[in-house]
Amino acid sequence: MILIDAGHGGKDPGAVANGLKEKDWNLEVSLHQYEFLKKLSIPCKITRKTDVELPPEKRSELVKSSGALVCLSNHFNAGGGSGAEVIHSKYTTSSFAQSVANGLKKAGMPIRQIFSKEGENGNDYYYMHRLTGSVETLIIEYGFLDSATDRKKLNVRSFRFQLAEEAALAAVRHIKGDLKRPVYLVQAGAYKEKTKAEQLCKELKGKGYDAFVKQEGQGV
Ligand SMILES: [Zn+2]
Repeated sequence: MILIDAGHGGKDPGAVANGLKEKDWNLEVSLHQYEFLKKLSIPCKITRKTDVELPPEKRSELVKSSGALVCLSNHFNAGGGSGAEVIHSKYTTSSFAQSVANGLKKAGMPIRQIFSKEGENGNDYYYMHRLTGSVETLIIEYGFLDSATDRKKLNVRSFRFQLAEEAALAAVRHIKGDLKRPVYLVQAGAYKEKTKAEQLCKELKGKGYDAFVKQEGQGV
């Protein structure tokens, strides 16, 4: 199970730059990731599907009680800088974060940094790491809203969606060792997604899973 978290929402806009509120792009890429994973028949959940506020206690409780193995918390950055950042808990290795970063880089977004951050009492600084129990959560900052370089790329919706898909695929690869049942990958329609489904299918088969690409509407 993969949990998708759309950062901020409602009264909390997140970063605001050049007329754009971070919460809106977070929601859009999260919904895209959610639909993308559903098309691939990968079990997934999402923390919010609309523009609602989720205070830290509520959001972290949703993550903790989701039954998910991993959580992708989607964000966009601001405050000077450029490129994507992937933040993992200090209690995990950086391998999952590295794999997401590789996907983002491959799609055309340079990586600024991969890191974990320590807060008070030596615990994780971000509550999405500190309060989410055993769910391996990554905070993904896809780029800077106030960077002209990043915005040139990010303003293209299909590029944002491509980044979201790469992160989702990295999550599937990361949990594949824990998938206990056959995996059916559905041909999503668009040629690009079909190629990805086939590629993922091959990888899963290599690991001994019963995976194949199926046509829309075709029974299994
Ligand atoms: Zn944010």
